[in-house]
Amino acid sequence: MVGAVNQPTTAGLQDRHALVTGGGSGIGAAIALALVAAGARVTVLGRRLEVVQALASNQPERLHAVGADVADAGQVTTAFASARERFGPLAILVNNAGQAASAPFLKTDAELWRQMIDVNLGGTMLCTQAALPDMLAAGWGRVVNVASTAGLTGYTYVSAYCAAKHGVIGLTRALALELARKGITVNAVCPGYTETEILRESIANVMAKTGRSAEEARAGFAAGNPQGRIVQPEEVADAVRWLCGNAAAAVNGQSIPVCGGEVLK
Ligand code: NAP
Repeated sequence: MVGAVNQPTTAGLQDRHALVTGGGSGIGAAIALALVAAGARVTVLGRRLEVVQALASNQPERLHAVGADVADAGQVTTAFASARERFGPLAILVNNAGQAASAPFLKTDAELWRQMIDVNLGGTMLCTQAALPDMLAAGWGRVVNVASTAGLTGYTYVSAYCAAKHGVIGLTRALALELARKGITVNAVCPGYTETEILRESIANVMAKTGRSAEEARAGFAAGNPQGRIVQPEEVADAVRWLCGNAAAAVNGQSIPVCGGEVLK
């Protein structure tokens, strides 16, 4: 919306329907709750229905749970139909569902490669295609992709994940231009190491492979952040909430690092 200056950062979110993939845990759950707190109605999507249902049961009038694998086109279609039936057309899509498997490149087999690409990049593509018709019809929409600092730079032993997240940022940029005159913005946030299950798995992996203690492994991840700490899910959620509101209407095609300055362009 042109002229959307000096607005509270929640302006434009009241009663909008947002769908957050991977919304039952970690960063996705923090995003879902931040959007609800800003007045939106939110569908949370994940493969484990009981996990998304547990979150939605806290505020059933504002949260709706659907079970689906974002890498499965048929399941995505069914889940988006359920979302529309509950809260109407979609105005906001947060592509947050993701997995981060690690392996040295020569041990990255076709299955691991395909899984990283299908979930992180393919899921983003399928869900965006499922949501866009509603946004185009309304002439207003927000797509926010939860990429990673691994979408902006390289890291050892996560080549498939890095390739997929770089792909998410390429998709973000291309789609932002394609939709720029349609009232729809497309952006990404790029968290550094964030306090979620993915980090706990990474810590366990380092412990198993190096014999380091949990504290040592955690300190290693925190040391990569110039602020010397792990990012909190709510910090990522706050950036996403801002991108979803009217106040960020001019921000388009950007990939915003939320990582204490770990990646400087
Ligand atoms: P998390 O707690 O493991 O959340 C991932 C969520 O995605 C889970 O709720 C999971 O639910 C869902 N999910 C995974 N595969 C899915 C699929 N195929 N279809 C549908 N849902 C799926 O970890 P997180 O850290 O919050 O991750 C959220 C996003 O942040 C991911 O895209 C990740 O790459 C990104 N990220 C995380 C970090 C970090 O350090 N934590 C850093 C940078 C970027 P189900 O298992 O029930 O499907």
